[in-house]
Amino acid sequence: MIFRQLFDYDSWTYSYLLGCERTRYAVLIDSVASNVESYLQLLKELNLTLTLAIDTHTHADHITAMGILRDKTECTTLVGEQSGAKCATGSYVHSDHLRVGDLDLEVRYTPGHTDDSYSFYMAEAGMVFSGDTLLIRGSGRTDFQSGDARIQYSSITEQLLSLPGETVLYPSHDYRGWAQSTIAEELAHNPRLQVVDAEAYAQIMDNLSLPNPKMMDIAVPANISCGKML
Ligand code: FE
Repeated sequence: MIFRQLFDYDSWTYSYLLGCERTRYAVLIDSVASNVESYLQLLKELNLTLTLAIDTHTHADHITAMGILRDKTECTTLVGEQSGAKCATGSYVHSDHLRVGDLDLEVRYTPGHTDDSYSFYMAEAGMVFSGDTLLIRGSGRTDFQSGDARIQYSSITEQLLSLPGETVLYPSHDYRGWAQSTIAEELAHNPRLQVVDAEAYAQIMDNLSLPNPKMMDIAVPANISCGKML
């Protein structure tokens, strides 16, 4: 498998390019609109054809590249069925399998950060792309976009911590530049997971008092239009 972790400096977002060695088909997870030219260059240099672009959820901190990528590459764009993005090619639901050449991404519904949050699990590669549901030593805020800390706790424990401990965790963001973790590492060291139940987890999440993301008022409406409103 061809794998690249790409970083957006403005929003501290990680995007992931996954390519099938046999077919040269590729999928881009959580793409950022301002980086489209660099994605197209990389695809060309790696001799890959982008066939699919997906987002883990409707982002509040950056504008998705999905709409522009579909125009430029004719790739399929998919969002979670709870997302209001009617402009996407289609949507996915829990337990779907998204196939790109020989790659197989199992869709896991992991709401809580938003009500359209999903994770993508690649069993064969031992990798999970957790969006903002589970971050390295943290988790995505639950105080807007239909967020719910108790639901997020269930998503994390049932859909992510139940994966094999050696599964490598790739989140949508990291604010210290930590690029990856594992499920076992987060179970042992993520401070938000050292709690007895969902209630105790919600206590932590309800008291974070975070400012709104600076791009939220622009990014959420734009992303419902697949990033093409601006
Ligand atoms: Fe988010």
